[in-house]
Amino acid sequence: MSELSNIIDVAIIGAGPAGLSAAIYVQRAGKHAVCFEALTVGGQIVNTPEIANYPGIKKTSGFEFSMGLYEQATELGAEVIYEKVTGVSKVESGLEDTSKDDSEDTLPDEKYFNIITESGKTFQAQAVILATGAKNRHLGLPREEELTGRGVSYCATCDGAFFRKKDVAVNGGGNTALEDALFLSNYCNKVYIIHRRDEFRGEPKNLEAVKSRENVELVLKSTVTELKGDKSLEAVTVKDKITGEEKDIAVQGLFIAIGQEPNNQSFRDIVDLDGAGYISADESCITKTSGIFVAGDTRTKTVRQLTTAASDGAVAALAACEFTDRN
Ligand code: NAP
Repeated sequence: MSELSNIIDVAIIGAGPAGLSAAIYVQRAGKHAVCFEALTVGGQIVNTPEIANYPGIKKTSGFEFSMGLYEQATELGAEVIYEKVTGVSKVESGLEDTSKDDSEDTLPDEKYFNIITESGKTFQAQAVILATGAKNRHLGLPREEELTGRGVSYCATCDGAFFRKKDVAVNGGGNTALEDALFLSNYCNKVYIIHRRDEFRGEPKNLEAVKSRENVELVLKSTVTELKGDKSLEAVTVKDKITGEEKDIAVQGLFIAIGQEPNNQSFRDIVDLDGAGYISADESCITKTSGIFVAGDTRTKTVRQLTTAASDGAVAALAACEFTDRN
């Protein structure tokens, strides 16, 4: 906390790779970092079975990586508060500035920020880093919510084991879909990959790997239009985008891997969002509001990777520390 009061030096919203990296840099800069986390530390990467593209670490699991980050940050003195943040607002200080004799007789009101949580608590911070990441995109089909956990899943690593020797489908054409299909093909009877185009966003290496599996079938230029089943998923209806024909594929599991969307609706009043809903900021991680910074997948950027999240964490932390020194 600041020497002045109980005000947090740098509040970090989200304790994923970007948030925890920021916490490490804030602590090492001699300030105090408090991360607010709604669920579990580590963010989305915690469910990744294997990380093999983080420089300096040949191979690790998402869980191991997340725990390492958490331990590194907390051993340096960072705190994690398990509260969902529902809003950040400027504190109206209303302090009088006696050093000026013109009409501008109040100090800037953005000196501190209120951090409001779902449980109704309010914390104060000198600077804020938004590192809330992204959440899984939904198809938006009728019954999608009802059948989630009853055949519909957004995490093959978490739920795949329930579908041993069963027929399943993966929807999507990115690396997540390809890696999910590869993972599921190890123990499911049959894995369909349903993708709306015939070209994949995922890496060619991953595509070759799924194509080499005998129990994987590609259903291309097709979209899922209906989820069928009584108490749990029994089939998906897919529509061929070229011919318009629809057919049912009998599956007990559907893994939806159609990308993510940013987790930042609570902050739309205090920062600018780009056309896709990400928080507008360039590589400096500085938002339109002085004292509010953004790091990781929730920021406008072209490459959303573990390395870029960690890199944003460092940049945002140093900028936030510099801001607290100036204010
Ligand atoms: P992604 O790369 O954005 O791919 C999403 C896929 O879903 C695309 O094929 C897209 O189709 C499709 N899609 C989007 N909206 C859809 C809708 N409404 N209906 C049907 N299909 C839809 O997402 P991701 O695979 O989750 O990957 C996210 C990022 O993480 C990427 O940068 C990826 O490379 C990275 N990642 C890396 C690793 C790794 O390095 N090991 C593993 C997983 C993910 P279109 O192609 O037609 O747009």
